[in-house]
Amino acid sequence: MIFLDAAATTPVRREVLEAMWPYLSGEFGNPSSHHSLGEAAATALAGARAGVAKAINCRAGEVTFTSGGTEADNLAVKGIALARKAADPSLNRVVISAIEHPAVEESARYLERVHGFAVDVVPVDGEGLVTVEALRKVLGPATALVSIMYANNEIGTVQPVTDLASAAHQLGVPFHTDAVQAAGWLPLDVKALSVDALSISGHKLGAPKGSGVLFTKGRLRLEPLVHGGGQERGRRSGTENVAGAVALSTALTLAYAEQPEQAPRVSGLRDRFIGHVLATVPNAMLTGHRASRLPSVASFCFPGTSGESVLLELERLGVVCSSGSACAAGSDAPSPVLVALGIAPETAQTAVRFSFTSAVTDAELEQAAAAVETAVGRVRNLASPQAG
Ligand code: PLP
Repeated sequence: MIFLDAAATTPVRREVLEAMWPYLSGEFGNPSSHHSLGEAAATALAGARAGVAKAINCRAGEVTFTSGGTEADNLAVKGIALARKAADPSLNRVVISAIEHPAVEESARYLERVHGFAVDVVPVDGEGLVTVEALRKVLGPATALVSIMYANNEIGTVQPVTDLASAAHQLGVPFHTDAVQAAGWLPLDVKALSVDALSISGHKLGAPKGSGVLFTKGRLRLEPLVHGGGQERGRRSGTENVAGAVALSTALTLAYAEQPEQAPRVSGLRDRFIGHVLATVPNAMLTGHRASRLPSVASFCFPGTSGESVLLELERLGVVCSSGSACAAGSDAPSPVLVALGIAPETAQTAVRFSFTSAVTDAELEQAAAAVETAVGRVRNLASPQAG
């Protein structure tokens, strides 16, 4: 099987499993316990926090471990907006882009539904880019927070995060970015990016599902969502997932040690794959930005098919990918991300996404491109046999 669905999840790396194993077995202590087992766990947690801080160039105290990307996004959007509104009730608007992951979008809608916020949605262009001009149009004195993702999970488009953050900062508004798909592939130096908050998920990087991080800058206030024993400096109560934190920190450190070599290598393979598909599949359409895109994502529409049928054919041919984001899979509605790009709903239904781990090879992608040609041909023939 050729696994081209890494944007959905990745296998746990062997080095990561080895690093986390002690904290699932012999060193199983609770970091809050006052005995040697507890102290060993607390030391491991501190080491994991320092590892994440080093990888993203922040202080250890600015790292909050969460149960994943979804929780990190919820904590950022709700936590920052609610804290700011509590300090100044006139701050009652949040800005998001039109292509956010549901973890951000639904958090903003919750603020609207339950806490009286208004949500301002910045449109994207046909390639999924948010421009500074478009952001400026929706920013105002009542904006409590801007949340715009670093790289999109369906089309791979990478946003000009630093420019967008500085537009928000000109009005004194904090800027959060969902870096779940970007982590491991794109620079993640939070100072250079100039972001106030950033979300990471472990399972996109070779750590287990259920591990995540929220970076929040300095004294940025955050209303906690999970109340209890006051762990994570009161930001996220609950006994810490020590093994998960160690795993995420190890995976992130490994990814950034390899990134200078892997990002250009995989980008090159991606471009060859895209070229091959566009050259061999009639009317194939690349979605997202041609250049400003994740090394690991190639996404297309294949008019005259359904994405789900192409997916099934590809699986028969030994290639596993996605017909959209995993969250939208199984639903018949066209992807809101593709619709936001201006793609007609009937074309959006024909979307297929290929996403790679850093272990992907040229031979695999060559085989996959040939399978795409066959699969799309078969589905089109079934849809209109007389044309075949
Ligand atoms: N944000 C983006 C852009 C994602 O792609 C995902 C997962 O697909 C998430 C957030 C949610 O992360 P998690 O699966 O760790 O909850």
